[in-house]
Amino acid sequence: LKENNARHMWHPMAHPADSLTNPPAIITGGEGVRIRDVDGHEAVDAVGGLWNVNLGYSCAPVKAAIAAQLDALPYYSTFRGTSNDQVIELSYMLRDFYGPDGLSRAFFTSGGSDSVEICLRLARQYHKIRGEAGRTKYLSLKKGYHGTHTGGASVNGNANFRTAYEPLMPGCFHIPAPYTYRNPFNETDPEKLAQLCLNALEDEIAFQGASTIAAFIMEPVLGAGGVIPPHESFMPGVREICSRHGILLIADEVITAFGRTGSWTGSRHWGVQPDFMATAKAITNGYFPFGAAMIADHVVETFENDKSGAAAIGSGYTYSGHPVGAAAAVACLKETLRLNVKDNAAERGTELYEGLKRLAEKHDIIGDVRGGHGLMCAIELVADRASKRPIDKATGLKVQDVAYQNGTMIRVSGPNIILSPPLIISKEDIAVILDGLDAGLSAV
Ligand code: PMP
Repeated sequence: LKENNARHMWHPMAHPADSLTNPPAIITGGEGVRIRDVDGHEAVDAVGGLWNVNLGYSCAPVKAAIAAQLDALPYYSTFRGTSNDQVIELSYMLRDFYGPDGLSRAFFTSGGSDSVEICLRLARQYHKIRGEAGRTKYLSLKKGYHGTHTGGASVNGNANFRTAYEPLMPGCFHIPAPYTYRNPFNETDPEKLAQLCLNALEDEIAFQGASTIAAFIMEPVLGAGGVIPPHESFMPGVREICSRHGILLIADEVITAFGRTGSWTGSRHWGVQPDFMATAKAITNGYFPFGAAMIADHVVETFENDKSGAAAIGSGYTYSGHPVGAAAAVACLKETLRLNVKDNAAERGTELYEGLKRLAEKHDIIGDVRGGHGLMCAIELVADRASKRPIDKATGLKVQDVAYQNGTMIRVSGPNIILSPPLIISKEDIAVILDGLDAGLSAV
């Protein structure tokens, strides 16, 4: 298995396969927050699959719902108005869930990149319907991650995810992120930095011309960029600027929706109502590839009242509203609400964040500790604290490998170790994660 794994599979984000050996885990089982590999080794999954397995690996109601739906109807499309009972129930539940955010209509997709793409497309179409066809550009944050499709890749803020694929979609511009550890303003105060980034957004809008911009897309807490929570003034500030200039706000909540930040959505945590919300990941907890782009009521009305004909052109995926995915999502949402996982995310998240701060007192290799918003934490590793020079790749992989041998699956991404365990995790297992990480850090 290991040889074929290295030889015949193109591993996303790890090809050529230099990082496959750290660890070479071929995962064969999962129970609660633990995964088990082909060698019988067990570890607490501090990655939570890929930020998505909020309910753990053995959620009985979700498994039962998937099995029942496979028996009843494995697939039918939701194109042209056909539908299925599961996706209708899910739409209704999502309306309750996101209604408070002003988003009561769901466009179903097969994952996060798909959800982002739908938001980007509908934003342009919205402006066309309103006779503002010149609004085609997109603004986003440096360090933001919005997926792998060409639209999402164009608004990705990290150049590493763009350059190999250029020329990408023209008309995408990136604003400095509110990242206190390292930023072009050399500003460490979060509130002052938020204001500087908002000023940069205003400047970019003035430079491009507001009437050329369709939308601004951002993660309420930047995830893959290294878990960067902004100051509380930032997202409301973005909302105000966008509204003033007629620019739509897309919240990319592929990671942050469904409780990970300790709030049901990241936008709600910051008191913001976006015009679109991209969701995926925890909507089915990894049990089925699925997503939903939530659309604001006023946007829906614009489409429904279109007299221009621009709304008639549709977007859709073969697997939009997949009945098995929808059944999984209905069961996940019920469990998510029944267990009120957001509160556990907040409490355990605080323990994890405090534990990481303690590790930073012990290990000089930790340059920065970020968290404080549920079970989304990161440490940034540096070769030298004074210069903030990042570690080399081998060091990060060694930490990852030793942590795994000590019972914790972590994720190294560039200089960051990202921690996003299932939201059902216990206090005891947070301690296991910290011990495993401590062992990994001690090894370097
Ligand atoms: N947006 C964000 C914020 C993400 O974190 C991700 C995936 N990590 C995506 C979009 C893309 O989602 P997917 O990998 O499901 O296509």
